[in-house]
Amino acid sequence: MLLVSEPILGEDEKAALCAVIDSNWITMGSRVQAFEKAFATAHGMTEGVAVNSCTAGLHLALAVLGVGPGDEVLVPSLSFVATANAVVYCGATPVFVDIGSPEVPLMSVEDAATRCTERTKAVIVMHYAGYLVDADEWREFADKRGLFLIEDSAHAVGAARSRIFGDIAVFSFFGNKNMTTAEGGMILGANEKMMDEFRRGRGHGMTTSTVQRLNGQGTYDVTMLGFNYRMTELSAALGLVQLEKLSGWNARRKTLSLQYRELLTGSGIGVPFATQSLSTHHIFPVLLPESADRGLVIAALRQEGIQTSFHYPPIHLLSWYLDRNPGVRLPVTEMFASRELTLPLHPKMEDAQVEHVTRALRRTLAHSAEPS
Ligand SMILES: *Cc1c(COP(=O)(O)O)cnc(C)c1O
Repeated sequence: MLLVSEPILGEDEKAALCAVIDSNWITMGSRVQAFEKAFATAHGMTEGVAVNSCTAGLHLALAVLGVGPGDEVLVPSLSFVATANAVVYCGATPVFVDIGSPEVPLMSVEDAATRCTERTKAVIVMHYAGYLVDADEWREFADKRGLFLIEDSAHAVGAARSRIFGDIAVFSFFGNKNMTTAEGGMILGANEKMMDEFRRGRGHGMTTSTVQRLNGQGTYDVTMLGFNYRMTELSAALGLVQLEKLSGWNARRKTLSLQYRELLTGSGIGVPFATQSLSTHHIFPVLLPESADRGLVIAALRQEGIQTSFHYPPIHLLSWYLDRNPGVRLPVTEMFASRELTLPLHPKMEDAQVEHVTRALRRTLAHSAEPS
């Protein structure tokens, strides 16, 4: 089966994990620190705080920023459920925002403006499929209203940009992302005081770390309500190895995406982001023709050994959210999500597999368009 995504793991990763075992220091040590530094530097920043998932990072960030009951946070509905869950964990209310268009399915700044109230405290943008949202537009939007700007950068790992533009950006290293630590995440930001609080908050709010106490710094105090969102040395060791390979993998993702784009030209299948080039090419979403039966297309591709998936069932239509907010309508998101299909894309793929997928897709659509 050709999978939608696959991690790349090999001898380098095995050696890195063995070295951690041999060191007998398995969490929050020198590898976590080295990974934080290396990842921050690769993204034009000086400081990073490693956590055990992107979800944990988003929650920790919102908690430290003081987002709580009565506050509203603008979020895209076309995202993974974690983006909104992090807001709910804080007792605040996620306010769902529509995408701009099916051609550029990123959160719309115009729609966000109409959904602002005096309770709006922050906005979380998401770089869908790896295509970066407009930095200037969102910075201005947030600054004008005094809102925190948070980048859910789960899809934007290794983006070739000079630095982050949000107050913070949170990245994911889950197994299906552009690089992996099995589970893991990273918070990047420029505000040192805030970064200090993230560092303390991921370890129960304790004022000293295990390493510091080992080095004779006495006992500890707890000065904030923290969490256990620590990263292990095993994860950090994987991260250091994977980070070295990231730009090569992202370049391969780009080549494969361009090949897909070319082979789908004139097929009646929509490929978003035709005019955007800056991307990490995390996934390859396409828009099926309105006439196509998506269930049949998925089944036909499966017959040919091709897995597909959706990005995403809109969060506001998931039962838990729908039950609490039945009135939310996001017409562009709903239309896009009803026709979207995500094709396989990962650096292990061969050119011939892209041809196989596009041929199968074209054939399936030709059949499904025939009158029965
Ligand atoms: C994967 C993902 C997350 C969650 O990341 P974890 O590291 O699994 O917690 C959050 N937001 C988006 C957009 C994602 O794709």
